[in-house]
Amino acid sequence: MKKVSILIPCYNEEENMSSLYQAIKELMDNNSQYEWEALLVNDGSKDHTLEKIKELRKQDKRISYVSLSRNFGKEAAMLAGFDYVTGDCLVNVDADLQDPFDIIPEMLKYWEEGYDDIYARRLSRGKESWLRKSLSMMYYSLIQKMTNFDMLPNVGDFRLLDRKCIDELKRLRETERYTKGLYCWIGFNKKEIGFNRGSRQHGQSNWGFRKLFGLAINGITSFSNIPLRISTFIGMIISIYAFCHLAYFLIKTLVFGDDVQGFPTLVILILFLGGVQLLSIGIIGEYVGKIYNESKRRPVYIVREYEAG
Ligand code: UDP
Ligand code: MG
Repeated sequence: MKKVSILIPCYNEEENMSSLYQAIKELMDNNSQYEWEALLVNDGSKDHTLEKIKELRKQDKRISYVSLSRNFGKEAAMLAGFDYVTGDCLVNVDADLQDPFDIIPEMLKYWEEGYDDIYARRLSRGKESWLRKSLSMMYYSLIQKMTNFDMLPNVGDFRLLDRKCIDELKRLRETERYTKGLYCWIGFNKKEIGFNRGSRQHGQSNWGFRKLFGLAINGITSFSNIPLRISTFIGMIISIYAFCHLAYFLIKTLVFGDDVQGFPTLVILILFLGGVQLLSIGIIGEYVGKIYNESKRRPVYIVREYEAG
């Protein structure tokens, strides 16, 4: 019998636990041609999520869990999941039930047909502000232009991954993770399913604008060095312009004599160049920061407890 793992990263999800279990149980019971495992990764929750998970495990041994030593973030929690799942494939879902479980049987059907990575594409994004939606669209088109492989827009972590993909993802152990990009980077045989994303059942999304901005910058700098090229390019344009200007003023002064003018121009130029320089240093800094973080070679997460089987 083939084994299917459900991977669920959980951070402060105590309110969602019982409805989550209902949904998992229904899914497992209705598809008894597979052996099931639900691996809940407790990402250092500060509420009673872990206790809830342990209670569920007492009731149902198909539930297993990994508990991390602190909050490492969803990306790290998912890597822990990839490392600890035992299935022939995994289905990655959020604990807040925003991902509809009813399309999972369809994913399994495509898996049986031989697809390796069956991802769900959001047709609508649930209750989100207009600003957030349009910023996200702009971001996707930007990152698509900057990478040399297909970066899929409106595709999240809700997907079914074959063991082949899991094993490859396990090899990608970068500290600052942008897993959405990694799924695309590994390639394999992909299949898309459309779905409408619901809104969160309980609690609040853990992604504020600051965290999202960080993730966005990380997404670009993880997969592309075009920002560095852009600053080189701007530097070149300004240098050429400055050189032409220099030649122009040199000739003008030599031919027509010197009259000191253009103080405002001078101030603007200095400020402008200062800005461009700081921006470029900032961009370099992003990459240097990445090198620094990766060079420490710290593990992506630390496990405190693990129970399965
Ligand atoms: N999550 C996590 N660690 C974190 C933040 C979130 O494991 O530091 C989990 C969370 O419990 C949920 C999933 O990641 O299962 C998605 O989180 P959330 O609903 O906050 O994100 P959104 O749906 O807004 O993308
Ligand atoms: Mg959510």
